Amino acid sequence: DKILEAQALQDEDKIENSLRPKTLDDFIGQNKLKENLKIFIEAAKKRKESLDHCLFYAPPGLGKTTLSHIIAREMGGNLRMTSGPVLKKVGDLAAILTNLSEGDVFFIDEIHRLNHLVEESLYSVMEDFELDIIIGQGPSAKTIKLPVPRFTLVGATTRTGLLSSPLRDRFGIVEHLDFYNDTELVQIVKRSALIMNVEIVSDAAEEIARRSRGTPRIVNRLLKRVRDFAEVAGGKVTREIAGGALEALAVDKAGLDKMDRLLLTTIIEKFGGGPVGVDTLSVALSEEVDTITDVYEPYLIQSGFIARTPRGRVVTEAGFKHVGAKAPKNLQR
Ligand code: ADP
Repeated sequence: DKILEAQALQDEDKIENSLRPKTLDDFIGQNKLKENLKIFIEAAKKRKESLDHCLFYAPPGLGKTTLSHIIAREMGGNLRMTSGPVLKKVGDLAAILTNLSEGDVFFIDEIHRLNHLVEESLYSVMEDFELDIIIGQGPSAKTIKLPVPRFTLVGATTRTGLLSSPLRDRFGIVEHLDFYNDTELVQIVKRSALIMNVEIVSDAAEEIARRSRGTPRIVNRLLKRVRDFAEVAGGKVTREIAGGALEALAVDKAGLDKMDRLLLTTIIEKFGGGPVGVDTLSVALSEEVDTITDVYEPYLIQSGFIARTPRGRVVTEAGFKHVGAKAPKNLQR
């Protein structure tokens, strides 16, 4: 079973990689960000310098990792990837940095989860391309400065507010990725379908787009499942097949999944629709505070189902309606 699971994961990875846009022109949406990046990349190339360090912040699945691949490719460098929680010691960082070449891209996902010693040693690396290493202990301890090739650090996080300001201030390029609109999501469905060799009619593509929470990763995930249903039915993906598959996956008309709806119904049933503090909500849902604020809430807020108030989260009238609950008469939002 373990082997089968590993194989399945590898296959998912392969598909995931084949679906990743390879160039900025291939990357759908985020037009302002793309225009900016194009200019920065071109200017850096003209000066024969490495690109400034980049920080991308957005909820999961909107394209931060993909952008780091694209930057490495456009700058003609290699990509090294890791994540905040994996870099446990300064030694782990040193091992990666000493293997970089000029112009490479070093991607740190979840950069807000770096431990503070590793984070602090990144400061001089980002600014002066020197890693301070302390050798020995006590009064005889010495610092050596290890030169590091001029590379580009690309950091990804869900919110800039999670980063300390000394770290945030060392990024020359700080960009936010927005949820994708329906037109862009339809383009992504069609592009992915083409790569996966799936025949899909336009209104099925629109149905998948509408139900993807504005998120390309979810587009691709739903498309894969919908394809399975179409294969079993022995044909192309029609609106009926897409709709049926999405029902089976418990993705509703607004693209909310079970957890999104549980969040809404919990606020309604246990807290009278709110306001409720996120800590209390975290206990009620057995979910981490960060997961609630960074994964679930952004889309629920964007869709107008919940709102943040100084006294906590509240479900809006649309939110009540969406889960088939009746909003109290005196609802003030
Ligand atoms: P993040 O790092 O923000 O969690 P990823 O970069 O891993 O997100 O993107 C998730 C998936 O969504 C990728 O496999 C990629 O194929 C797809 N994707 C992301 N952004 C786009 C885009 N702008 N156009 C097309 N596909 C995209």
